Amino acid sequence: MQILVVEDEPRMSELLERTLSEEGHQVVVAGDGCQGFDIARSSAFDVILLDVTLPGMDGMTVARKLRELRNQTPVLMLTARDTASDIVTGLDSGADDYLTKPFSIDVLLARLRAVSRRGSIPQPMCLQVADVVLDPARHRVTRGGEALSLTPREYKLLELFMRNPGRAISRDTILESVWGFGTEVSENTVEVFMRHLRLKVDTGEIKLIHTVRGFGYMMREP
Ligand code: CA
Repeated sequence: MQILVVEDEPRMSELLERTLSEEGHQVVVAGDGCQGFDIARSSAFDVILLDVTLPGMDGMTVARKLRELRNQTPVLMLTARDTASDIVTGLDSGADDYLTKPFSIDVLLARLRAVSRRGSIPQPMCLQVADVVLDPARHRVTRGGEALSLTPREYKLLELFMRNPGRAISRDTILESVWGFGTEVSENTVEVFMRHLRLKVDTGEIKLIHTVRGFGYMMREP
């Protein structure tokens, strides 16, 4: 999907940009409300992730002005507040849904899918690295035609690697992508999960998952 992220906190916008890109989306970032509004009305997006508290023009105003221009792009509001009146104001201004910070990446992706359902969602394609095939539609993984039994986290981990074949992925990125933003999980946990994943995926002679020393891990064709 083409996603516009309007967010003024650099750390947050970087995390969103990286995570959504890793999920295969095209991401454009705007750092304030006016810029966000200008980009949103001049280019087509599948979804707009819109922070509420923004310099220039706040998120509610951006959403309302876009609706006034008959721009129907689905808007997912990101808010640090969760009082009922703020949510009602946000939805009244034209947002389709809202997400209260802090949120997990799982929840964000689920909401993005839900909000964008009105538009066209591309069918998920099977991912393949060597003889490992991951079918997102069926949530099923095989290696050499044999089904692998993975836990939900192991599945997410593997999906992250298979969406980025040949690319080194840092432990930090793994933590954020699989466990969510601001997680309390330690890097040791990543190692433990990686060990389990490798025991299930790399059982034969040809190894696909590799350690990148001092950084993280990579999955690649042999
Ligand atoms: Ca903000």
